[in-house]
Amino acid sequence: MKQLVVISGKGGTGKTSVTAALAGLGPEKVLADCDVDAADLHLILHPEIRQRRPFVSGEQPTLAPELCTACGLCREHCRFEAITEDFVILPEHCEGCGVCEYVCPAEAVTMHPRTCGEQYRSDTRFGPMIHAALGIGEENSGKLVTSVRQEAKEVAEELGRRLVLVDGSPGVGCPVIASLTDADLAVLVAEPTISAVHDLKRVHELTRHFKMPSALIINKSGINQEQEQHLLDYCREQSIPVLGSLPYDETFTKAQIAGQSVLEFDPEGLGKNMHEIWDRLEPLLNH
Ligand code: SF4
Ligand code: SF4
Repeated sequence: MKQLVVISGKGGTGKTSVTAALAGLGPEKVLADCDVDAADLHLILHPEIRQRRPFVSGEQPTLAPELCTACGLCREHCRFEAITEDFVILPEHCEGCGVCEYVCPAEAVTMHPRTCGEQYRSDTRFGPMIHAALGIGEENSGKLVTSVRQEAKEVAEELGRRLVLVDGSPGVGCPVIASLTDADLAVLVAEPTISAVHDLKRVHELTRHFKMPSALIINKSGINQEQEQHLLDYCREQSIPVLGSLPYDETFTKAQIAGQSVLEFDPEGLGKNMHEIWDRLEPLLNH
């Protein structure tokens, strides 16, 4: 079983539209939406949720007012200013360190597992999909990404699917590192703009650090010839295969509004580009 991850140096490069189109190409697969901070693959793939489970990470305290003597020790020792003057714990400030429980002489504070979001196993027209929603203000998206990827892998093994296709997190932080772990190939999606070329270099350095093969898709091709040439020059210097380019086209937006991939919405236009991209991608994935 192979794992293919689609990433970009920043959001808004068309990464998810490319992932949705790749979902309709190649072997039967399991899909994983690891862009948990701004998940939108579901807008195109319309998953029907079959199973849901809470995502638990770290701990959080509860304070029993009937036991509290208002001594103030917990508030005094909390380094994150997460306890108000009235001894109410503010979950959005709390880091779950457990100091309040430790110092409380009245045993009024108890630590318990913290539910940070929800993880789903769903069905889509392109196969099973694992995705998640992080609670408002919650962090730990790296852990949630790892959990989504792990479940996608398990489902692929259970069903004998040959490919896990991952919509990775954008950027170069912890969630994208979690998206990349154990993958066989990273597909980098970049547009030809000054900032995107810079971001592409950063995300490519990350894949190189993990000794992971990568290949590039240029999206919004034609909007800036000079920057496009910089992208191509960089790929040549770094021996990054270029899988193809997708012209700047409102069809991407129209397809998204229609809730379809470009493969379905524009089979004779961008759909053909995506088929050509897949034909170049498949040998690299199986290499
Ligand atoms: S667990 Fe730590 S951060 Fe949270 S309220 Fe207690 S002392 Fe403050
Ligand atoms: S340390 Fe315990 S008893 Fe003191 S204010 Fe905090 S919760 Fe109340």
